[in-house]
Amino acid sequence: MIYKELGKTGEKIPAIGLGTWGIGGLENADRTNDSQLIKTIEKAIGIGYKLIDTAEYYASGHTEELVGEAIKNFNRDKLFIVTKVWPNHLSKIELPKALSGSLKRLNLDYVDLYLIHWPSSEIPLNETLEVMMEVKSKGLIKHVGVSNFDTSLLEKAIEISDYQVVNNQVLFNMEHREPERELLPYCIEQGITLTAYSPLERTNLSSETRRKLTVVANNHNSSIYQLMLAWLLNKERVLTIPKSTNINHLRENLKAADIKLSSDELRFLSKN
Ligand code: NAP
Repeated sequence: MIYKELGKTGEKIPAIGLGTWGIGGLENADRTNDSQLIKTIEKAIGIGYKLIDTAEYYASGHTEELVGEAIKNFNRDKLFIVTKVWPNHLSKIELPKALSGSLKRLNLDYVDLYLIHWPSSEIPLNETLEVMMEVKSKGLIKHVGVSNFDTSLLEKAIEISDYQVVNNQVLFNMEHREPERELLPYCIEQGITLTAYSPLERTNLSSETRRKLTVVANNHNSSIYQLMLAWLLNKERVLTIPKSTNINHLRENLKAADIKLSSDELRFLSKN
C-alpha cells in the first residue's frame, strides 16, 4: 500500500480506499443483501483496506449503517473513515444533526474526515466551515474537507478555514482529466490532498482509452482497471477510492499500488 500525506497534517493515509456508492442501495436503502455486503466490507478490511469512503446520502444512510456493522469488530484506530454531509444539511443548525446521524449509523465517536459533499448556493460557505470547525474542536471529526469544489471555490474554502481544509474529492480518471489543468496543480502548490472518485469511470470506457490501457496492461500482466488506478496514484497528492463488492476486484485494486509505470508508458497513456 502507498501512503500519502493528508494535506499538510503530517498524517499519512492510504492512497487506495474503498468506495461505497451503490452498496446497500443507490439513493434509497435496499436491505435485501445486507449480510453479504457486511461480509464483503469485512473481507475488504481483512485484505488491507483501511480507508473507507461513504456519505449520509448513500442509500439514505443505509450505506453508513453497513459500514458501521462491518467495522465494529476491527481496531477503530487503524481505520480511516470518511463521510460526507449533503448540501441540505450545511447550515449551523443542520450540520451537527447530520453529523450525529452519521456517527450513530457508523457506530463511531468521530470520523477521520468529514466532507462537504457538494457546494451549496443557499448556505454561505463561511457558515458551513465555521460549524465544521466547531464540530472539529469538539473532537467529532478529525479533519475537514470538501468535494466537487472547483479551484476558485477551494481557494475560498482554504482562506475562510485558515488552511484547515485538507482534502477535495472530485471526479478524476483517464476519461475525465479536467483536474489536471488547474485544480491538481493548485492542490500540489497548497498542499491539499485530492481524492479521485469514480477512478474506473464505472468501467464505461471509450474504445480509445481501452485500447491504450490494453497495450500497457500487457507489459505488466495487469488488468486495465489496475492501470487506471496506477495512473492516478502516480500523481503527487492524489488518492483514490474505487468501489467494488467483488473480492477478486478488491484484491486487484489494492495491488494497483505496486505497479510502476515508466515515463514512456505514462506519456503514452496520457497523450490525447
Ligand atoms: P468506480 O469506482 O469508478 O467504479 C465502480 C465500478 O467498477 C463497479 O461497477 C465495480 O463493480 C467495478 N469495478 C471495480 N473494480 C473493478 C475491477 N478491478 N475490474 C473490473 N471492474 C471493477 O465508480 P464509483 O463507485 O462511482 O466511484 C468510487 C467511489 O467514489 C464511490 O463508490 C464513492 O465512494 C465515491 N464517489 C464520490 C462522489 C462525490 O460526489 N464525492 C461521486 C461519485 C463517487 P464490482 O463491484 O462488481 O467490482
